[in-house]
This record gives sequence, structure tokens and C-alpha cells, in this order.
Amino acid sequence: MMKQFTEWGKIEKDRIKGVLILELVDLIKEGIEIKEQVPLSKYTYTKTGGPAEYLAFPQNQAELKKLVDTARLKQIPLTIIGNASNLIIRDGGIDGLVLILTRMKQIVVEGNCVMAEAGAHIVDTAFTAARHGLTGMEFAAGIPGSVGGAVFMNAGAYGGETSTVIQSVKVLTRSGEIKEYSQNELQFAYRHSLIQETGDVVISTTFILQAGDKNKILAVMNYLNALRKYKQPLEYPSCGSVFKRPVGHYVGPMIIEAGLQGKQVGGAQSSLKHAGFIVNKGGATATDYLKLIHLIQAKIKQQFGIDLQTEVRIIGKSPESPNTGQ
Ligand SMILES: Cc1cc2nc3c(=O)[nH]c(=O)nc-3n(C[C@H](O)[C@H](O)[C@H](O)COP(=O)(O)OP(=O)(O)OC[C@H]3O[C@@H](n4cnc5c(N)ncnc54)[C@H](O)[C@@H]3O)c2cc1C
Repeated sequence: MMKQFTEWGKIEKDRIKGVLILELVDLIKEGIEIKEQVPLSKYTYTKTGGPAEYLAFPQNQAELKKLVDTARLKQIPLTIIGNASNLIIRDGGIDGLVLILTRMKQIVVEGNCVMAEAGAHIVDTAFTAARHGLTGMEFAAGIPGSVGGAVFMNAGAYGGETSTVIQSVKVLTRSGEIKEYSQNELQFAYRHSLIQETGDVVISTTFILQAGDKNKILAVMNYLNALRKYKQPLEYPSCGSVFKRPVGHYVGPMIIEAGLQGKQVGGAQSSLKHAGFIVNKGGATATDYLKLIHLIQAKIKQQFGIDLQTEVRIIGKSPESPNTGQ
């Protein structure tokens, strides 16, 4: 059952249980809302995933820092989520404290630069840039992630990549330090950034763009979105392309050739519209997703000798095993 701990009296009652909530009491007393046992399937794009033991939505950098500092000092496992569009959260859920950053969503334009907080949608950031006649982010028109998630993943599409338009990224390190990286320090590569190694939390990002024709920019973005709608199964929950593209190969055609397009495990199906997507046809669990992923990986290895790596991040614990964290 989902509970909301906002009053000291309620927390006192939970003291009896001697659970983790005691470690979070100071934050709750300061007015930070922390919920317990929240099903994360409410937030993931696949509509699957187990519960967060504790869940908070920091409203600003100060709240984010307090939450991250508390987790570190009290040794509470910490998981950061953006828009949950590239995540499979195992059905056992996530122990410790989960932070969803989507309430930190300010976007500010100054000259050729756009500063966006980590939780801002990359789509909103791109359209804001377009409305200010700034070109460079058109590729992001239909990527359903947050700015933090786009930096973490170096999200890209239609020949563009997040890394190419970044000036700097402000992060909170796991040791509590606020730090700014310039673009060339972030070791960007295909669906990779340094943040994947450091575990830093992206607070905000400054994008540097070029002046352009607003109407032309918007026309390109609308065209790319129409193309996406035509090619991708956007009518179903999914997590986008599940696998990274192996050098020299395309995943979709390999899945088709292996006879796995349309293959269904429980409610999870390799999409009939785009074989590289796994859609939730209704009632899928994260376990269904994972079984289908493993089945595809095994068949592709057997038939083509290629080890498919997942692009989607798989976190949390299996219903029957300990937390595997992030
Ligand atoms: C229909 C669909 C289409 C898609 N199309 C594309 C596409 O064209 N190109 C593409 O690249 N991707 C695509 N994706 C995948 C996804 O949208 C991107 O990977 C996106 O960048 C993920 O952002 P997010 O905020 O949803 O991250 P999440 O899924 O919330 O998290 C992904 C990872 O980023 C980390 N993270 C998130 N925010 C932060 C932060 N502030 N600080 C530190 N770490 C953070 C998380 O811990 C996690 O490990 C698609 C997904 C869907 C569902």
C-alpha cells in the first residue's frame, strides 16, 4: 500500500517498525515529501516495474542535494530516474531511496544558449530552442527522455546526438560536490557518457546552438515526428530500441531474419512495426520483458554470432533476489 509521510505523527508511528523512514525524518520535517512503497510502473514508459521503497520528487537543486547528501551519510541506496523512458525496473522493485527528477524542469534561453534543468523534457527543450529560432536540437523532437537522461545516454536520432550541442553539464557528485563538466570532458560515445561511470547526478545542462530560421526548424521537427510515428509503435508502451546497434549490423532486420518479430512472452512482444522495440501488449511484467530480451540475445548469438548489448538500462531486484542497484 502506498503511504505518504508528511506529518511527524505518522513518522512516530513508524518508529516502531524501525525502518529506513527514520533515516529520512529530518528531510520530511523540512517539508520534503517522501512516499513509501510506490509502484514504479506508474512512471515507466513500459508500464512495468516493481515498487520504490521510498520515492521523492525533488523540486529544485537544494532539495536534490539534501536528498543525495542524506542517502550518502546514512548509506541508503540511491537511484536516480529521469523520465523512465529507457528503463526496465525488475518486478522486485528498488530498495532505498528513488528520486524522480521531472519536477526540476526549468528551461531558460540566453542568446544562443539554452539552459535546462535535468528533469525538463528534451522535447520541450528542443521546441523552446526552435521557438527562439535556434537550430541544432531538431533531432531530439521525439525523444521521450529528460535532459539528464539524454546526457547520461547521449541520446540521439536521425543523425543528431545530445553530445554535439552540449556546452556544459552541472552535476552533483555522489560525494556531495557541485561540479561543472565541459563537453569534451564527458567522454561521449554512442549511447555513452562519463556520467555512466561516475554516478554523478545531472542537475542542469547548457546547450549551445546556432541562429536559424524558426519556421524551417519547426518544419524539420514536425517532419521527424511524423516519420517516428510512421516507423515506431508509439501506440503501445515500450522503452524504445531495446538493443544497441552492433557495428556493421542493424538489430531489427536480424530479429526479423531470426524469425522473432512478433514473438511474445507474457504481455511483452517484439513489435510487428519495428522489431527492435519490445511493446507492452497489455499486462506485461518486467520479467516478461527480460525473458524476451534474453531469448532474442540467445537466438541472435546462435544465428549470427553477435552479442547484442541492451541500450535500455535494467535496474532493481528480481522478486526473489537481493537488490542489484544501479
Ligand atoms: C518510444 C521511445 C522512443 C525513443 N527514441 C529514442 C531515440 O530516438 N534515441 C535515443 O537515444 N533514445 C530513444 N529512446 C530512449 C530514451 O528516451 C532515451 O534514452 C532518453 O535519453 C532517456 O531519458 P530518461 O530521462 O527517460 O532516462 P531514464 O529512463 O529515466 O534513465 C535512463 C538512465 O539515465 C540515468 N539518469 C536519468 N536522469 C539522470 C540524471 N539527472 N542524472 C544522472 N543520471 C540520470 C538513470 O539513472 C538511468 O540509468 C526512446 C524511448 C522510447 C520509449
